[in-house]
Amino acid sequence: MFDNLASKFSSAFSSLRGKGRLKSGDISEIVAEIKSALLDSDVAISVAEDFTQKIQERAELVLDEVNKSTNPSQAIFNIVNEELITILGGSARRIRFAKKPPTVILLTGLQGAGKTSLAGKLAKYLKDQGNTPLLVASDLQRPNAVTQLQVVGESVKVPVFAPEPGNGVGDPIRVAKDGIKFAQDKLHNIVIVDTAGRLGVDAELMEQAKKIRDAIEPDEVLYVVDAMVGQDAVRTALAFQEGVGFDAVVLTKLDGDARGGAALSITQVTGKPIIFAATGEKVTDFDLFYPDRMASRILGLGDIQTLAEQAKNALDSETTAKLEKKFVEGEDFTLDDFLAQLEAMKKMGSMTKLLGMIPGANSGAMKKQLEQFDDSELIKTQAIVQSMTPLERNDPKVLNGSRRSRIAKGSGREVSEVNSLVERFTGAQKMMKQMRTGKGGMTLPPGMGGMGMPAAPIKKQQSQSKKKSRSGNPAKRALES
Ligand code: GDP
Repeated sequence: MFDNLASKFSSAFSSLRGKGRLKSGDISEIVAEIKSALLDSDVAISVAEDFTQKIQERAELVLDEVNKSTNPSQAIFNIVNEELITILGGSARRIRFAKKPPTVILLTGLQGAGKTSLAGKLAKYLKDQGNTPLLVASDLQRPNAVTQLQVVGESVKVPVFAPEPGNGVGDPIRVAKDGIKFAQDKLHNIVIVDTAGRLGVDAELMEQAKKIRDAIEPDEVLYVVDAMVGQDAVRTALAFQEGVGFDAVVLTKLDGDARGGAALSITQVTGKPIIFAATGEKVTDFDLFYPDRMASRILGLGDIQTLAEQAKNALDSETTAKLEKKFVEGEDFTLDDFLAQLEAMKKMGSMTKLLGMIPGANSGAMKKQLEQFDDSELIKTQAIVQSMTPLERNDPKVLNGSRRSRIAKGSGREVSEVNSLVERFTGAQKMMKQMRTGKGGMTLPPGMGGMGMPAAPIKKQQSQSKKKSRSGNPAKRALES
């Protein structure tokens, strides 16, 4: 996410850090670098200018004071962080619920922006919080939009109101109105209305969106934007704002090679906050938009909060309690336990994405490793374990040559891969024992221990580096572990 921008910020600050006492010229230099990084990332000129001017002014104002501190560059870094959070909207904005349910949410935006996918993601998110959403299929234009919404609704177990087949047939305003009525009758507390987009802004599109808005008087009109479109997205957003009006923005496709232009410009230009962010095609690739976390990523500080939240959600309390009990009671960890861990890791989503949230993930060496990380290794490892019998999973010592060859065939892997997994698992098992008996130096919590990553899922095997002493920085230490 915003890799290019993040690496430019990182290099600007590393040159500032080397300077010790700062002069006015140093500030101008870093401000110029930041401005060029922003423009390069397709941030609107007016936003880049305002942003850098504010940093320059604030930094100049505190320069004398800052130079008395032990780390002058840190103070400038903090100013940039604060200003980044500000242009990203300040604090996270949440859905405003109607006093009298149902809360009506209208999705607007260009075709292909990700509205229909978002409808499913949003429905799941709201349902997980204890709501009873209803999806309404008012995109009767785009081929298969109605079916797509039905499929997505089915996958998240949220009902879809779709009385018309779509593909050009049916009246979207009528469907939206009837959908609200249906939600009232069936006591749904939230209605999410998917509408048609076009490939570009046109009068007909605006007219239809406006008519739907007037007919259902939504509590929230969300404008869905493809973050990869850059500054163009901001121009279209302005047209929508004038034509239909919206309350908040949703950024989609932040997982792609979005340069950051839309994210950094849209709130400043439209005055509307970004409320949600979609980071992939899966229904779980979605969260509230947190300006401080986004700023943190751009500045190379990672996003530990999101990472911790995702880990907590993925490890269900039953599995964690079971592993803890085993650990305390001195039972061996088996390949079945390992399988449960793999499942949890898969639930957390792409490992590349997860590791990208670790501080420093955008720096040179780490970035290269991330690029080589192969998410499919998790699935391959899982296939190997699943091809084992319960006996073998419980006691890998029984795995003789013929059993290993059968497992390799069953999972479609090479015998050498089976061997290597068993070897690493046995090593991890030993390490867990040492941890328990206090002979090993590590104190990772059970369930998150050394066997969590036995498949070494780096595409090309990295040469083993020499054992280093562990870092005093907790984030770095977690990374080393
Ligand atoms: P709509 O025309 O606005 O309803 O757009 P869709 O919901 O059909 O999305 C268009 C395409 O973008 C589909 O192929 C989606 O799978 C994809 N898409 C939507 N959101 C995301 C996202 O956050 N990341 C990625 N990579 N793809 C997305």
